Amino acid sequence: MADFRDELNSYKTRYQQKQNNRSNFRHTFHYCDDYQGILYLMELLDSHCHLDLPIFDPDRDAILARCGKIGVKSIIVPGINKAGWGRLLTLCSRHSNLLYPALGLHPLFWAQHKETDLSELARQIHQHQPVAVGEIGLDYYLPDQNRTRQLGCFEAQLDIAEQTGLPVILHVRKAHDVVLGLLRRRRIKGGVAHAFNGSLQQAEQYIGLGFKLGFGGTVTHSRAHRLRRLAQQLPLSALVLETDAPDMAPANHHGERNRPDYLPEILNTLAHLRDENPLTVATRTTANAKQLFAINITNQGPA
Ligand SMILES: [Zn+2]
Repeated sequence: MADFRDELNSYKTRYQQKQNNRSNFRHTFHYCDDYQGILYLMELLDSHCHLDLPIFDPDRDAILARCGKIGVKSIIVPGINKAGWGRLLTLCSRHSNLLYPALGLHPLFWAQHKETDLSELARQIHQHQPVAVGEIGLDYYLPDQNRTRQLGCFEAQLDIAEQTGLPVILHVRKAHDVVLGLLRRRRIKGGVAHAFNGSLQQAEQYIGLGFKLGFGGTVTHSRAHRLRRLAQQLPLSALVLETDAPDMAPANHHGERNRPDYLPEILNTLAHLRDENPLTVATRTTANAKQLFAINITNQGPA
């Protein structure tokens, strides 16, 4: 126990030194990376990662091995469309103590979704018991999206979430007030507003409805002033970490395919912005997500 405390204090001192030299977060991450003991103590959870997509086929196992080494102990893999659910479920069952499935119909793929996909979703959820219904929501960002179709599909999936008692993983752009209005009329077990991009007032309304706000790669970009301010204002109890890989790469990997093992970079940025210890941020955000998704993982040590 004494050894552990010494180790932790030494980490804190050295982390503080790094914080004083705030020019480059990548250094902090590399420093942590060398320090396997501390990362082993840091249990991280990526609450949104599309690791099932074929873009990860060439090196998925290597990425997962690295996740195990650097403390990313659990990853939520949300569904996008019916055609992808089978592959996603197979992958998650092959790594059942690391990958956790969510099933849903993504709003941007509204043109692919059929009426019968909804009954199939209810059936698959009953059979496979995913941790959430997602990724679902409304995307009103682009003008050429069929809002009526999106809304119908979203409401039907909220019905399923309500009936099954599962939380939801929400994708919402330019539609937070519509979504909040729908949620207020229902009894949803909470969820995550993934890649949150709304106002402080909207964030507070989600929190009031039992939701967490997902923070990912965007917060690492120095020009994301509004989002960075939000990351400082919100209580730690309301935050979860996510990569949204393969999209939304952190600033140090701009233009690259994003990966779940980049999650510590998001952690470091959040801790820095909030002036909190990364261990505290890691512990709380992981606990938030595990409680929400009813995941109970014991720390099994380095892979
Ligand atoms: Zn997504």
